Amino acid sequence: MNSMRFAVFLDVDGVLNTRTTCQRTPDGYTGIDDPRVEILAKVLEKYDCYEVVLTSDWKEMDEHDDDYLYLQEKLKLYGLCISGKTNDNGSNRGEGILEFLKVHPEIDDYVILDDQKFDFRNYTELWERLLITDGIERAEFASRTPEVETMIFMDYIKEFS
Ligand SMILES: [Mg+2]
Repeated sequence: MNSMRFAVFLDVDGVLNTRTTCQRTPDGYTGIDDPRVEILAKVLEKYDCYEVVLTSDWKEMDEHDDDYLYLQEKLKLYGLCISGKTNDNGSNRGEGILEFLKVHPEIDDYVILDDQKFDFRNYTELWERLLITDGIERAEFASRTPEVETMIFMDYIKEFS
């Protein structure tokens, strides 16, 4: 067990689902696969203190939207909840994460889960903590020199997939 304060910056589409996902949201969009949420939850159980920060476009939804409630329910099934959201214009997702970190200095380390690269490559500290997914169970390091905590997180994903 690790006593630092850890954050996972979470994309949804391409992490908790893939293009072949059959689940649908209440509004008819691609839904969320329980086994993928379960993997994330088991990985995060390895951390004493963690936050789930939403970076996905899903963060733009009204919190009373049926699909947003659906996301929260899916996470809650495995004991997870969203503790924050980043802000961006849709393309500068990395910048949004940096802004979030600036106002949350209590976060000691973090990993980014996303199926797209956005502007992450522009920031070494983000790039080295990025896991590119095709579903969480198929994660790959973005960087050839990933940060240590990111390698540990990857090991946990493999352990629980
Ligand atoms: Mg995505």
